[in-house]
Amino acid sequence: MTETMAPATPGGRDQDFLAPAARLRGAGIGGLEELTDIQRSERLARMREGTLGSIHSWELVTAVDGPGTRMTIFLNGCPLRCLYCHNPDTFLMKDGEPVEADELLRRMKRYRNVFRASGGGITLSGGEVLMQPAFAARLLAGAKAMGIHTCIDTSGYLGRNATDEMLDNVDLVLLDVKSGDEETYKRVTGRELAPTIDFGDRLAAKGIEIWARFVLVPGLTDDPGNVENVARIIERWGSVVSRVEVLPFHQMGTDKWDALRLEYKLRDTRPPEPELVESTRAIFRSHGFTVH
Ligand code: SF4
Repeated sequence: MTETMAPATPGGRDQDFLAPAARLRGAGIGGLEELTDIQRSERLARMREGTLGSIHSWELVTAVDGPGTRMTIFLNGCPLRCLYCHNPDTFLMKDGEPVEADELLRRMKRYRNVFRASGGGITLSGGEVLMQPAFAARLLAGAKAMGIHTCIDTSGYLGRNATDEMLDNVDLVLLDVKSGDEETYKRVTGRELAPTIDFGDRLAAKGIEIWARFVLVPGLTDDPGNVENVARIIERWGSVVSRVEVLPFHQMGTDKWDALRLEYKLRDTRPPEPELVESTRAIFRSHGFTVH
């Protein structure tokens, strides 16, 4: 992955959609030569059809990103600019590594027995998975065809990019509700809240399981009124919400912001005290949710 990037702004969508600049893995001296215009346009065409994606990394994890042991794949590109993002190196699609969908599907196949034994599967995360909908759809369809449990981890902001056909291949959605009111949502992410609510409504109508997630940041998202509004939004999705996760803010992404020379505004923010985490979880519990 390249470490160079332009300062990210919420309006930087043109940058977001550029294809990765590095060479294909195994195709020679990675990243050292400029791609020709023809190579660039071929690459974009393949990304559009979903046979090629831009990814940051993948890893095998247990007890995070969904049930059981999971292969979590981090896709590059995100339309949001969350102040607390711990993966700012996934902001831009062009900073990812170009990887064939078939290569990832072959890896998934190798882990099929691990997934089956642990009740796990694959999780497409990011960045924002729905920035590369054709690639994601291909991975999800391929995983499903192998009988593998599938999950996407998303803010829902680009929910309109998910076709019904794609969602038919999704077993679980980790849906981030980053704030319960417009103003805070905008302050946290630089974008609007409504698309997330719309996407959750759509998942609920389709009966797709949701784990709702909320990042608790002292002084930013912790106002009880804001938390109450998050709980109300999640409540409208009814029984498809099988758990709510309150994720305490941490400083683990600081080095990445610095390395990318981006302004990190939460440098002086402390992780929430255990009492605040507990009182926030209690608000969700009072709405009848199973809270983690
Ligand atoms: S949605 Fe996720 S990847 Fe995108 S900026 Fe927010 S925390 Fe980072």
